[in-house]
Amino acid sequence: MVSVELITVGDELLIGQVVDTNSAWIGRELGNIGAQVDRIVSVHDMAEDIQEAVQAALGRADVVIMTGGLGPTKDDITKKTLAELFSGGVLVRDEAVYEHVRRMTEERGLAFNELNRAQALVPEGCVALENRVGTAPGMMFVRPGAGDEREKLLFSLPGVPFEMKELVSEQVIPILKDRFALRAVVHRTMITFGLAESAMALAIAPWEEALPKWLHLAYLPNARGIRLRLSAYDVDVAEAAGEIEGQFDKLKMYIAPYMLGYEPASVESAVAGILAERGETLAVAESCTGGSISARITAMAGASEYYLGGVTSYSNEAKASILGVSTDDIEKYEAVSETVARQMAAGVLERFGADYGVSTTGVAGPGGGTAEKPVGTVWMAIAWRGDDGRVETSARLMRFSELRDQNIERAATHALNMLRLHLLGVSDAFQQTGML
Ligand code: ATP
Ligand code: MG
Repeated sequence: MVSVELITVGDELLIGQVVDTNSAWIGRELGNIGAQVDRIVSVHDMAEDIQEAVQAALGRADVVIMTGGLGPTKDDITKKTLAELFSGGVLVRDEAVYEHVRRMTEERGLAFNELNRAQALVPEGCVALENRVGTAPGMMFVRPGAGDEREKLLFSLPGVPFEMKELVSEQVIPILKDRFALRAVVHRTMITFGLAESAMALAIAPWEEALPKWLHLAYLPNARGIRLRLSAYDVDVAEAAGEIEGQFDKLKMYIAPYMLGYEPASVESAVAGILAERGETLAVAESCTGGSISARITAMAGASEYYLGGVTSYSNEAKASILGVSTDDIEKYEAVSETVARQMAAGVLERFGADYGVSTTGVAGPGGGTAEKPVGTVWMAIAWRGDDGRVETSARLMRFSELRDQNIERAATHALNMLRLHLLGVSDAFQQTGML
C-alpha cells in the first residue's frame, strides 16, 4: 500500500488567514483511488522549515505532495528550497514551460517580464509538470532507492486551489496509478438529518452490530445532519458497492424518515426531488433566516420547476403588508410566535399561488432575546391546501443556540425538513418526539 504525506506551505495557512482546503481535497481524491494520506503538515514560507518537513516526510512516506510557494514573488521560496535539497541549488530553464508561460502571458495581453521568465526555471533533474491553467509548473522529484530504502516521489504543486486540482487530476494521479499498486477502496455516504448523534447511534445499533466486519462505519456530524459513511478496503469494488447499497437499504428499517439520500444529498435536494416528481410548487416567507432558504433552493439547478419565489419579510410592516399577517396578532403575540409563523406560511402560499408555503420567524441573536424568547428561539411553519381547498398549517418551535450563524443555518434546515416530512406523510407527532 502506498503511503502519502502532504505538506502545505504558506504563512497565511498558519495565521488562519487561509483555510487549508488543498489538503482536504487531495486527501479525498487520493482516498478514492486507494492511496492513503497518513499525515498533513503546514509550514511557514521559511527554507529551514520546508527542508525539515520534506526530509521528515520522505523518511516515512512513499510519496510526498507539497502545495504552495511556487509563485514568482519573493515570498514564494519552495522552488529555491527544493533546488537546494535536490540539485545543489542549480536551476535550469525548461523549454516547454518557457513556451507555455510566454504563450499564456501573450494570450492574456500581459508583458512577458523577468518574473515570468523565472517561472520556467526548475531545479535540475526534476520533471516539470505542465500546468495548463496557470504559469507556475508543477514539479516531480524522484529520490532513488538506496539500501533498504524504496524509491520516493516528491511532488511540488502551486498553492492556488484550481491550479493544484488540475495538476493532481491530470498529472499526479495518473503517475501514482502507473507506479504503485493502489488499494481497491469503496466509500459510500448516506446523508441523514433530524437525529442527534447519540440518538442515531442508539437507533441504529442493531444494524451497526450486524455489519460485516470488512465494512467500516463512520459518523460525520455537522449543522446539516449526520453523514454515515461506509468504507471497504482491499475488496472487489463492484461486490462491495453492492453490499454497501444493500446495507443502506436495511438501514431504512431503523431510520427511514431521516435518510435524505447519498452524498451530496441535502434537505433541500430531497424536498426538490419530491416536489419536482409531483409537479408541485413552493413559496417561502423568511424572517430570521433572511433569504437563506430561498438561496439554498435556488443554488440547485432546475429550481424554477418547483420554486415560485420568496419574501424576506424582516419587519413587522412587511409581514403585514406583503404577506397579510394580522397586525393585531403581531401586536398581541409578537413577531416571533406560532400565530405569526402560521400566517406567514399561509400568506406566502396564497400570494404566490403555491402548493406549499414555508416560513421562519425567530431571534437569531446575539441581541433581542428575552426571558420568554431567548436568543435561538425560532418558530417555523408550513402551509398546504387541504382536501376541501382550505389552507392548513402546521408549526414548530425550536430552541437553538446563542450563535447567529448557526441559528440561521439550523432554522433554514429544520424548516425545509418540516416540509420534507410533511411531503412524505410523516406525522406531526413523530416530528415532535423524534427530532433533535
Ligand atoms: P502562484 O503561482 O499563483 O503564486 P503559489 O504556488 O505561489 O501560486 P501561494 O502563493 O502559496 O501559491 O498561494 C496562492 C494562494 O493560493 C494563496 O493566497 C491562497 O489563497 C491559496 N492557497 C495556498 N495554499 C492553500 C491551501 N493549502 N489551501 C487553500 N488555499 C491555498
Ligand atoms: Mg505562498
